[in-house]
Amino acid sequence: MLDNPPKAYTVSNFYCQKEQDEEELLQEPWKVPISTSAKNCRNYIREIVDNLHLEPNPNKRVIALSIGDPTVYGNLAPAKEAIQALVDSALSGAHNGYAPSVGYDKARKAVAEYASRDGVQVKPRDVILCSGCSSSLDICISALADGTRKQNILIPKPGFPIYRTLAENIGVEVRYYSLSPENNWEINLFDLEKKIDYNTAAIVVNNPSNPCGSVYSASHLKNILKIARKHRVPIIADEIYEQLVFPGNKFVSLAALSKDVPILICSGLTKRFICPGWRMGWIIVHDPIKAFDEIRVGLNNLSQRIIGANTLVQGALGPILKNVPESFHEDLINTLMETARVSYAGIDAIKGLKAFMPQGAMYMMIGIESECFPQFRNGLEFVSRLMEEESVFCLPGEAFGVAGFMRIILTIPSELMEEACARIAIFCDKYYTQPVGN
Ligand SMILES: *Cc1c(COP(=O)(O)O)cnc(C)c1O
Repeated sequence: MLDNPPKAYTVSNFYCQKEQDEEELLQEPWKVPISTSAKNCRNYIREIVDNLHLEPNPNKRVIALSIGDPTVYGNLAPAKEAIQALVDSALSGAHNGYAPSVGYDKARKAVAEYASRDGVQVKPRDVILCSGCSSSLDICISALADGTRKQNILIPKPGFPIYRTLAENIGVEVRYYSLSPENNWEINLFDLEKKIDYNTAAIVVNNPSNPCGSVYSASHLKNILKIARKHRVPIIADEIYEQLVFPGNKFVSLAALSKDVPILICSGLTKRFICPGWRMGWIIVHDPIKAFDEIRVGLNNLSQRIIGANTLVQGALGPILKNVPESFHEDLINTLMETARVSYAGIDAIKGLKAFMPQGAMYMMIGIESECFPQFRNGLEFVSRLMEEESVFCLPGEAFGVAGFMRIILTIPSELMEEACARIAIFCDKYYTQPVGN
């Protein structure tokens, strides 16, 4: 038997000490640490806008030409046939349970029929329903690109920032290929090819484009396919603005042109049917050479992460895609076209700005000639002062990865757009400086 063991080592003393520590711990506020992936997940548009510290002119009503949601001004809304289909879907009581994670058979069949055109035959098994087109992009990038193998994807500049958000979140590097404003924002093919290496897992092509409003010709799309084929890089085609093209332009899906390049097409109801909040998107697997056998398994596996898209909208999908009349889409195009016309005429008359007439989608890019506005150090300062003085807010090109531009939306009533252009003109006339040497 031990005589007089030191006090600190007795069992009862050990437990007393522990309880005392726990007691002290409970006095401290409980802060749960954030995971690295959550911490690093970024919304690049929000970040730039939040850093601008915008104060509108209190004497002028704010006109936001920045918001990429076609429903906010109330002039655009889903078709009554689409709303009826959604109501019917809910009332039927048939869509309250889980659907297969890739979607109901009937909903996949409806998308397959809708997407079968221009000689492309889509089968229901080629369709995966997702929670909005962003979720389609997420699943495609995750299925093709491996962060742990240091892979990269190529994305457009200027381009929609979500590609970067999604890729970097899984450790995939993004590389930008440039678009040429002087050439209808076509892809600089030389630059595209230069950026490809052995670790390139996919090329993201966005046509029609946000933010550029460009619509690519069949011959340009064929040149993109040639590069993809030569280097054996699959394509993720973000075609959420499919068919949203102005008269004189034609939308051609990359799938319709590809005989030997595997492509994942991402689209959905969001823009063409004006219902971003309904969160209905899809992936179409276009695989003429059976290169995607494993990728199909991967897409199916990844769809389990969210256990499938909203079933009420899935239940309505067949009637939406069949019953919304062609005239609804024509009206939408005419409305956007009218606003594009008004904004182009308004902006083009302003010294120091250059308007790029869009060919489709819902946006117009405006070039800011920096030598005409030397008092602003960059586009961020330009759009901030425009907001402070005229209460008109445009998204700076920096939100899409380029300086010297701003993007405006076309989904606003055209009278409001006229007023916005008049105010932009007042602002520019005030600050315009004749460049030296001209
Ligand atoms: C709006 C948009 C999307 C998708 O939006 P969802 O709301 O997720 O359907 C995808 N790509 C581009 C280029 C967009 O502008």
